[in-house]
This record gives sequence, structure tokens and C-alpha cells, in this order.
Amino acid sequence: MARIADLLAAGRTWSFEFSPPKTAAGMVAFDEAVGSLAELEPEFVSVTYGALGSTRSTTRDMVVRVNDERTFPAMPHLTCVGHTRAELAELLTEYRDRGIENVLALAGDPPADGSDPGGEFAYASELVELIRDVGGFSVGVAAFPEVHPRSADREADRRLLAAKLDEVDFGITQFFFDVEHYRSLVGELADLGCETPVIPGVMPFVSVAGVRRMSAINNTDIPAWLQAKLDAVDGDPEATRRLGVQVATDLVAELLESGVPGIHLYAMNKAASITEIYAALGLPVR
Ligand code: FAD
Repeated sequence: MARIADLLAAGRTWSFEFSPPKTAAGMVAFDEAVGSLAELEPEFVSVTYGALGSTRSTTRDMVVRVNDERTFPAMPHLTCVGHTRAELAELLTEYRDRGIENVLALAGDPPADGSDPGGEFAYASELVELIRDVGGFSVGVAAFPEVHPRSADREADRRLLAAKLDEVDFGITQFFFDVEHYRSLVGELADLGCETPVIPGVMPFVSVAGVRRMSAINNTDIPAWLQAKLDAVDGDPEATRRLGVQVATDLVAELLESGVPGIHLYAMNKAASITEIYAALGLPVR
């Protein structure tokens, strides 16, 4: 069984997110991490896509290879901003022909300098339509518990998100640090009649500067208790990584109590943090 829609229908999924390596050493680390984390028997893994197609061929090569070599499916992330319809149709057809059965459909971010990215797409929902036209995929989309930074307001964010989720099989969230953000998201979507499963994304951070930068970009609130703990470990990489494991472990435990459809963990191409989260939670339980 390799379609994520079917995996979710069968029970709670566990999944890990990787990014395409940029160097030969990065490739070795990627393979080691995938190999170690395969022992935890995830339902699926995913590989991110660089903004505006910057990792187009590496993402494709990693996804196809992992999908071929492992017992679990690998899902490519795919962004549409800056791409033409023909470019994306070609890549999707190649994915389908090479046995990929799942795609995470994303808008991607426009260039930071405000320049026109070109291409024929503005929103993820347009990519979802193209993926359905190509056919053969179980499709997921992104969801922002704390509202997407470009959304006009919370009401518009939820309305457009519910409409997007209604057309696909599942959502995966941006990372967050307070379980209430996830619970509110799911409740507000249910109020709009949207019952598509939304898998929470959990990031076991490894760098103080990194988590602060990514939180600012993604509209993720860092609560005061976590700000204080980050201040305390700043400058100590191993203490920071251990704090990331602790925070993620507590969050996953709370999410499991909430009856989530799955847990999606950011591996960041390393196995240690996820392995420690599993050990702390007594997982995997099958
Ligand atoms: P959309 O769903 O298109 O939404 C973007 C904004 O437009 C929102 O404010 C939405 O409300 C608004 N909107 C949507 N439709 C309309 C409409 N019809 N009219 C007006 N406004 C509308 N980025 C990468 O570059 N590579 C990755 O691999 C990647 N992986 C990700 C994985 C996850 C799980 C998540 C949560 C995000 C990921 N991102 C990735 C980031 C994502 O590409 C950016 O956050 C991007 O800015 C928005 O993408 P989206 O798919 O949520 O966009």
C-alpha cells in the first residue's frame, strides 16, 4: 500500500521529512539518515523542493531512489510559483511513470526581493488542479495553524484552506509549539464542514538562530517559556538539539492524546533526534 490516502484510512501514519542534499557529504548524510530512520518503519517519507525549482532534479532523484529502494513510499514536495504549466506537467508525468503515487502540492514563496517570478501559477490550488489532470496521485497540501503570513485575515485563511483541503486527500501543517494552535485549526476547519485529515508537522529544532528565523518567516509563535529555554542553550549546539528533542517529544505526546491522523517529523537529514523522540515515547507501537 503506497497511497497516503489509503495509509491514513488504515490508521495513524508516522512520516519523516528530508531535504535534497547539496554536496557529496550531504548525500552520504541523507542516505545514512534514511537508512537509520527506515528501522522505525515510517508509513512514508517526503523530500522538500527548493524555492522556484532550485532543487528540481535533486528532489526528483532522491524521491525516486528512496521510493524504489525502500518498503515505504517517498513523496516529493512540489511548488508551482515561477513554473509554467508545461514544466510541471512534464515533471509530474515523469514522477507518475517512475512509480511515485503521492505529491505534496505547494505554492512556494515568491522571490524575497519582490521581483516577478514569472510562470503561470499563483496558488497551490492551481497546482492541485494540474496534478488531478495528470492523474494517478494521492495529493496533500500545506496548512498553517497560526495562519499563513500572506493571508489577509484568519477568516480568509481558513475559508481558502478549507476549499483547498476539500480537493485533496490530506494536509500537513507548518511547525508550531503550542498544541492549541493545531486543535483550533482542526476545529475551525470542521466548522466549515472540512473533514480532510490534517497531519501535524513537528520540528525537533537543532539551532537557536534557525528556529527563531524560521518561526519569524512562518508566523510561528515561540511562547515565552520556550524563548527562555532557547536563551539558556544558545551557543551550545548539543544542549540546543536535546532541547529540540524534549520540546518535540512533549508536543507529540499531547498531539497523540488529541487523536491526530498522523505525525510528520522534520528529520533535517539526521536520524538522532527522531530516534530519541521515539525512544522517549516508547515507539514504535504497532
Ligand atoms: P497557498 O495555499 O497558495 O496559500 C498561500 C497564500 O495565498 C495564503 O495566504 C492563502 O490564504 C492565499 N490564497 C490561496 N488561494 C487564494 C486565492 N484563490 N485567492 C487569494 N488568496 C489565496 N516551500 C518550498 O519552497 N518547498 C517545500 O518543499 C515546502 N514544503 C512545505 C511543507 C509544508 C508542510 C508546509 C506547511 C510548507 C512548505 N513550504 C515549502 C512553504 C510554502 O511553499 C510557503 O509557505 C508558501 O508561501 C505557501 O504555500 P501554500 O502551498 O500554503 O500556498
